[in-house]
Amino acid sequence: EITFNGKTGIVTGAASGIGKAIAADYASAGGTVIVADLKQDAADKAAAEIVAAGGKAFGFAGNVANADDAQRAVEFAVAQTGALHHFVNNAGIGGASAPVGAYPVDSWRSVIDVNLIGVFLGMRFAIPAIKAAGGGAIVNIASVMGAVGIANSSAYVAAKHGVVGLTKSAALEHAVDNIRVNSVGPGFIQTPLLDANSDDATRTFLGSQHALNRLGQPEEVAALTLFLLSDHASFITGSYHLVDGGYTAK
Ligand code: NAD
Repeated sequence: EITFNGKTGIVTGAASGIGKAIAADYASAGGTVIVADLKQDAADKAAAEIVAAGGKAFGFAGNVANADDAQRAVEFAVAQTGALHHFVNNAGIGGASAPVGAYPVDSWRSVIDVNLIGVFLGMRFAIPAIKAAGGGAIVNIASVMGAVGIANSSAYVAAKHGVVGLTKSAALEHAVDNIRVNSVGPGFIQTPLLDANSDDATRTFLGSQHALNRLGQPEEVAALTLFLLSDHASFITGSYHLVDGGYTAK
């Protein structure tokens, strides 16, 4: 059984989709979760749902691409609960859909800003706090696009490949601090992000691209993430873990 009693974790992008499922599961396992997202009302609403279900949660508003916000999130967690043990870099955006030769430059930069630099900033400020707590674990939500490409999503693919590499360096650097760092590569998961970027026919097609012939669910990504955060994964660090229904097995 996985338990996080007495532990504190921050989950970014936790007002929706995969992050929301991770935050709920972390609290169900006894941890106190900081539900971080762009807007205070959305973060507070998701935190309130966790509290209503008997968990411990606080909402926090911030932009993962902003260094001050990343630092404030960590300070908030420590001020509210006394320490930080776990961090899940989950917030992400899709960006424009276009080939490299026509990709809007501003969109390319903002995808890198949120999906890659945001992950660096989260770790930059979480690691000293986790070290001060005696150690812990970090999970960075990448994608199957951290291993393979897809047409018309070069910024997303580049950022997710970057997250896989960044995770390896951080794991090597901070093993000495008793901090494990891993990345997770979901296949296509049924979330508001996917719904906003596809119609029914596209979702059916995307499901068919997985060996299991369906989309994944946020809870299926949360299950792997919680395992990697927990002491059950005590010998696992620096690696990239797929939860992709066989998408990359082809
Ligand atoms: P989602 O859109 O449902 O939720 C993402 C959340 O992140 C939203 O609440 C949004 O407000 C927040 N967010 C966006 N930009 C932010 C920023 N700059 N600062 C703080 N919060 C921000 O998306 P999701 O599908 O749950 O995706 C979560 C993560 O999983 C992303 O990193 C995504 O790339 C990854 N992922 C998703 C899929 C999929 O098919 N849905 C597949 C593989 C990987």
